[in-house]
Amino acid sequence: TNKWSYDHRQEGAALGQKMSYIRQTAGDRGALKDIQIFGMSSWLRQVHDAVLKLFRDFQLREQRVRLLGDLAEVALTFLRNGAAYGYLLALALGEGLSVSEFLLYFTAVGNFTTWVTGILKGFGELHQFSLELSSVRGYIEAPEPFRMEGGKAIEPDTSLPYTLELRDVSFRYPNTETWALRHVNMKFQVGSRLAVVGENGSGKTTFIKLLCRLYDPTQGEILLNGIDIRKYSYRQYIDLFSVVFQDFQLLAFPLGQNVAAAVEVDKGRAARCLEMAGFGKRLAALPQGLETPLYKEFDESGVQVSGGEAQKIALARALYKDAPFVVLDEPTAALDPVAEMEVYENFDKIVGDKTAVYISHRLSSCRFCDDIAVFDHGHIVQQGSHDALVEAPGKYQELWHAQAQYYAKQEKEPGVE
Ligand code: ADP
Repeated sequence: TNKWSYDHRQEGAALGQKMSYIRQTAGDRGALKDIQIFGMSSWLRQVHDAVLKLFRDFQLREQRVRLLGDLAEVALTFLRNGAAYGYLLALALGEGLSVSEFLLYFTAVGNFTTWVTGILKGFGELHQFSLELSSVRGYIEAPEPFRMEGGKAIEPDTSLPYTLELRDVSFRYPNTETWALRHVNMKFQVGSRLAVVGENGSGKTTFIKLLCRLYDPTQGEILLNGIDIRKYSYRQYIDLFSVVFQDFQLLAFPLGQNVAAAVEVDKGRAARCLEMAGFGKRLAALPQGLETPLYKEFDESGVQVSGGEAQKIALARALYKDAPFVVLDEPTAALDPVAEMEVYENFDKIVGDKTAVYISHRLSSCRFCDDIAVFDHGHIVQQGSHDALVEAPGKYQELWHAQAQYYAKQEKEPGVE
């Protein structure tokens, strides 16, 4: 029965995970609007009930196996005691075993079987614990995909700016067949401004994930100052990057801590970064300033920031880290046009002498970058300055004209800016 439970543990855990996902979603503040508007509650309830039924079936199967085990134990005990007592009775009746001897053997058999059962149960438990322990050990001993410690130290050579190069990099996400990136070659230096453009699903975010070593390439290599990044200390390597991901996460802790990503906050620096990210006025209006808790999960008095404000805080966090590479994945997607313009206008000031990699599907927002890489179906199909690309027939020109037409159409419509 222990082995059955052990062999089927993943089935049980997967069902448990599904149930907790549904319960969490149903209680999630963020999902409430959608659940309400689209009347999703009966959908959620139906899926929940279906999974609950599977979970109950699973538990029933487990209980059946346990019941069979218990029944076998009872039958064996019955057989064992029946045989021992039958034999003693036969001796008492046939060969004149005295009452005291009968009692002695009778008690001895009883005690003996209790001990044997105790030992067997003990072994059973030991077996169960060792199976459970082996799961824990399997988890602890699982190879680390990235070793945080060890590896070559990154020597900042002040005479040379950092150079990053992707050499024939191809990448497939684990357990997928399609290539998210194929034969990508690229080189850039600290101080340059690189824009990455392309349609949805063309591989832009994947490119960034590889660059920050959240994944290693399936084929090819990424070099920092000519050395494969896998050789460097992982901790030091990721310290080189500040990224605002599209789906960045702020936590329900004080604003200042969110900017510093730590309990200790350099207040002046945090305020400066928030100012640069366009959050200055809002910060000045907050009575608790950097101490203001965000969201309500941790503190009922927390402030519910808007999507655009959250994006500014995420940008401030990226600036606070002060890393040589700043990567912004659609950094203005949630900003209003005025805030968006402020980011563009201040971009050089914000990024300073750092390398900026700027991802966007809005081509007009990439014009200020020195170099633009155009992604299409996982390939870099074109690379160059805006002026060169817009003249050359190709994907960039196609996207540019499609978007220009869209903006032109908008301008023609009265009342729409
Ligand atoms: P973009 O940022 O240009 O919109 P992505 O880099 O996110 O594109 O996606 C490139 C391709 O990789 C897409 O086909 C997408 O479906 C796939 N993909 C992205 N993330 C994952 C993932 N975590 N697992 C499997 N496939 C993924």
